Amino acid sequence: MKKIAIIGGGQGGFHLAFGLLDRGCDVTLYTDRTPDQLLGGRIPSTAFLFNQTLDMERRLGLNFWEDVAPVGEGMLVDFREPSGKTLLTLKGRLFDKSGQAIDQRTKFARWTQEFERRGGRLILQTVSLEELDSIAAECDLTLVASGKGAINALFARDASRSVHATPPRNLAALLLKGPQIVGDRPWSKADFRPLRFNFIFGVGEFFSLPFFTHSAGECRSFLFEARPGSAMDRFQAATDGNEMLKIAKDVIRDFAPEDASLLDDAQLTDPNAWLKGAFTPTVRHPVGHLPSGRVVMGVGDAVCLNDPIAGQGANNASRMAEHLIDAIVTNGTSPYTAQWMQETFDAFWDASASYTTAFTNALLEPPGEAIMHVLGAGANHRAVADDFVACFETPRNFWPWIADLPAARRFVEARGGSDAA
Ligand SMILES: Cc1cc2nc3c(=O)[nH]c(=O)nc-3n(C[C@H](O)[C@H](O)[C@H](O)COP(=O)(O)OP(=O)(O)OC[C@H]3O[C@@H](n4cnc5c(N)ncnc54)[C@H](O)[C@@H]3O)c2cc1C
Repeated sequence: MKKIAIIGGGQGGFHLAFGLLDRGCDVTLYTDRTPDQLLGGRIPSTAFLFNQTLDMERRLGLNFWEDVAPVGEGMLVDFREPSGKTLLTLKGRLFDKSGQAIDQRTKFARWTQEFERRGGRLILQTVSLEELDSIAAECDLTLVASGKGAINALFARDASRSVHATPPRNLAALLLKGPQIVGDRPWSKADFRPLRFNFIFGVGEFFSLPFFTHSAGECRSFLFEARPGSAMDRFQAATDGNEMLKIAKDVIRDFAPEDASLLDDAQLTDPNAWLKGAFTPTVRHPVGHLPSGRVVMGVGDAVCLNDPIAGQGANNASRMAEHLIDAIVTNGTSPYTAQWMQETFDAFWDASASYTTAFTNALLEPPGEAIMHVLGAGANHRAVADDFVACFETPRNFWPWIADLPAARRFVEARGGSDAA
């Protein structure tokens, strides 16, 4: 039986842990928080998962919130001037690619208990580099899925795949409840329950997603992505959730005035339902070399950390976990060498993560001619908008048209749109 250690009980680590248990491996998961600490702690993220990722969780029997969590049925997007004036509105349905967002505190707390119930070995420990070496000595393979944890320093930055030297956005997020923001149609201009996006040129973006948390049930997440130094970059001085909420209301009033009244009676779902901060998106080399000469492999954010603007990080961590589970099983009784780790990661990078990263980085910049052509057509042709938002689930489907105007024209024409759109 293959003996596998996983460091980090997050989206990627749990996905690997349950998937490898299912494949008959002996799995030990090291993680640094108990279920009670998770449930009573601050939100780490506001991750929304597309249907493809939810399907992976369904196959693993991890979809405990399927019937209680609201479904994100499509995207309602406004592109705006810094004054808040709308330049273009896009409405696209996700149809069979709809998704859900479950509070990671809720999810990881339940999954921690479920992992032990299914026979996995759970060790509550913040693993240090020294401890990692002794863990690796006992295992056939050690996978480091530590998110943004400090242990990532083990994996060197890959300068050829990383484009950012500083954080492109300052982030602020909240979970809010209130009668006007939950339910099927909070925005009357969308005939579906939307992921609500606002892109404010030169200033930043903010998103609101249908959400589920243990502390309040159905609610909505609000994520603000402020360009550093911009007029939206106001959250950094806030010291608690109520200050964050007040700033959030001001920002929405200033940049998306018609959305502002929805938050009139909104409240935090719980005192810990907020976060703020910034990080530098970084792609790292997947092989970590330990002092003993042993090697470990990075997974998820530990080696492929993107800005949340495109809603891809958790989806990417799960896609990578699926890729790895297959590769681990296919490797049979052969050893998991540095070469195997590099080749396994490179195959995933070429097939998936390179597109995820490029798409995410593209959204952080002003849209180019090709994407503007599709967005402009999508504002008037529902089929174009629907197929545009469908690509979020599999970012490689944005290619080739995202960066090529003739291909963008063909994408539009094939869906009944036109240049005059
Ligand atoms: C505001 C915000 C919004 C987001 N929105 C989206 C979205 O809409 N869609 C999406 O797909 N993604 C989104 N993301 C990204 C997503 O949350 C992450 O990409 C995803 O959780 C990464 O999974 P992971 O397993 O790599 O890391 P994580 O889920 O962060 O898990 C890492 C785990 O490892 C533990 N750990 C760290 N170091 C150690 C150690 N030394 N020893 C033991 N345990 C350790 C941590 O405590 C944590 O539990 C968002 C992120 C943020 C910040």
